[in-house]
Amino acid sequence: MKKKPSRVTNMLRLGLFWALVALSLLAVWAVTSPQGTLKEVSVSDVVRRANDGKIALIEIQGNDLRITPKGQSKPTERSLKEPGTLYSQGLKFDKVEIKTTAESQTGAITWSIASIVVPVVLIGLLFMFMMRQAQGQNSQAMGFGKSKAKLYGLDKERVVFDDIAGNESAKQDLQEVVDFLKHPKKYQSLGAKIPKGILLVGNPGTGKTMLARAVAGEANVPFFSISGSEFVEMFVGVGASRVRDLFAKAKKNAPAIIFIDEIDAVGRKRGSGMGGGHDEREQTLNQILVEMDGFEADTNVIIIAATNRADVLDPALLRPGRFDRHTTITLPERKDREAILKVHFKNKPIDATVDLDKLAAKTAGSSGADLANIANEAAIIAARQGKKKISNEHLTEAFEKVAIGPERKAKVMNEHEKELTAYHEAGHAIVGHVLPDSDPVHKVTIIPRGGTGGVTWFLPPEDKSYTNVYEFKDILARAMGGRIAEKLIYGDDGITTGAGSDLRKATEIARDMVIEQGMGQKLRDQVFHEDNGGMVFDKITHERPYSEATAEEIDHEVERLITEAARRAEAVLRKNRAVLEKLKDELLLHETLEEDEANAAMEGAALPTEAKLH
Ligand code: ADP
Repeated sequence: MKKKPSRVTNMLRLGLFWALVALSLLAVWAVTSPQGTLKEVSVSDVVRRANDGKIALIEIQGNDLRITPKGQSKPTERSLKEPGTLYSQGLKFDKVEIKTTAESQTGAITWSIASIVVPVVLIGLLFMFMMRQAQGQNSQAMGFGKSKAKLYGLDKERVVFDDIAGNESAKQDLQEVVDFLKHPKKYQSLGAKIPKGILLVGNPGTGKTMLARAVAGEANVPFFSISGSEFVEMFVGVGASRVRDLFAKAKKNAPAIIFIDEIDAVGRKRGSGMGGGHDEREQTLNQILVEMDGFEADTNVIIIAATNRADVLDPALLRPGRFDRHTTITLPERKDREAILKVHFKNKPIDATVDLDKLAAKTAGSSGADLANIANEAAIIAARQGKKKISNEHLTEAFEKVAIGPERKAKVMNEHEKELTAYHEAGHAIVGHVLPDSDPVHKVTIIPRGGTGGVTWFLPPEDKSYTNVYEFKDILARAMGGRIAEKLIYGDDGITTGAGSDLRKATEIARDMVIEQGMGQKLRDQVFHEDNGGMVFDKITHERPYSEATAEEIDHEVERLITEAARRAEAVLRKNRAVLEKLKDELLLHETLEEDEANAAMEGAALPTEAKLH
């Protein structure tokens, strides 16, 4: 694992470089001026000043003269004498003290050694420095094949099961793995094989990574984490060599956990050729299989992989001895959502108005990551408003922001658009309100949010695992409510693009009902699942396991569902025209209506017999 040089390392390198430059200059100066800062003067000058009584001491060291003028305590000048010059130039010996000292050999020797050694050392250092730089680049270039797995320390960022709220059944499954890692002998002595691979299947953000880390945390073993997509690079063979490197590292640190996130990035069914560059993917996948098979029975390394699409994985990965244990992680239920919210609000100051249970009730279908995100957004909103504590209002705003995008209050709508939006949303709300199998209205607003003009929000009163045909049909009808309201008020050609996303969603639901849920009228109890398609000679093909006639029938079924939904929505809105006007007026006045306010405005709305299904 080659890390990018950090800023600190870069600064250190720069510092070292300049230190070397400074040292070299110093060395050059020292070598060229071995006598330090003594002033050079001529011998005749020395003799003249000595005879004038201005010099206190002349020291003779070989041919060197060191002169201490009067009033100084040590030599400040120097001169060179030819043998006999002092005398021949007429120095008067009574005017000055003359001392002859032995020539200091050590100084000269030191200097001559230094003048050789210092440059050599400096050049050596410089050379080493450059070599290291070059090596750094080199190892970066050669480091493709090294796995980028992150190793998490044991104590820092350690996660344990208690940090994960809910997910009880997954925790139970994984508790067993913790035991394997802690007491391998116990199992081996009975001839039990320790499982090699565990597949965590679940929606994104449900805590799969956290669970894998908690297994490592509980068992106190190192945790190597890598994402499937990191195996795949531009160069063929890189993925396979990364796998080899990763497994080698883990084996060296055994007992250990390898966590492969998004295993579907490399582990898709082979041969389908989807995703391009499948040679590389297949090689990587093969290498994973080889490594898993190559584990000896007592290699205490467990591989945990995560995916949200177990159905696309290559069957070879799921065979016994590989990822043969599957743990499904579901979206959290209400009480788990509350527990997760509690975990994420643990270190945040909240005031008495905050009702986490209510928020938990509203957030059906949210993952742990969504809830963590809501908690964080609430804190950000409170901080932005300069508050010391998070209140329920912040919580609601955060929830709505995460669920449908932030309010875009700044967007200016002209009066006509505003009125149209009010009719449109009122249409959704009334149809949903009146139909017996629809969820109740939670909120209606004509303030643009995210990518929409306004929002009508329905929330189930409790978590639901199944949806029946009546419920689906009411969802379709209320989705059509917006377009139908526009049509009733502005005429057939007065309809707008405002309903585009409603219609797309309605069509998707209708197709899903027919194709995946066996809820068609003629095509009841059959599913017509299409696979994701594969590439054959550069063309995406969809393998359709049904005939052309059935395909046509599916289209008819979808059309029938949509037409029926539109008819029901129209019946409701025609019958409740007065309520439509009232709700529109309220919306124009208040822009946003909460559940109670919306219900009050829709009081007296009735269900026409034409819209009844049962
Ligand atoms: P996944 O790997 O399934 O996509 P992660 O494990 O990365 O999900 O979870 C993302 C984040 O969501 C976590 O960092 C954590 O903050 C939060 N989270 C998810 N599930 C839980 C849970 N059960 N309890 C507490 N926090 C959770």
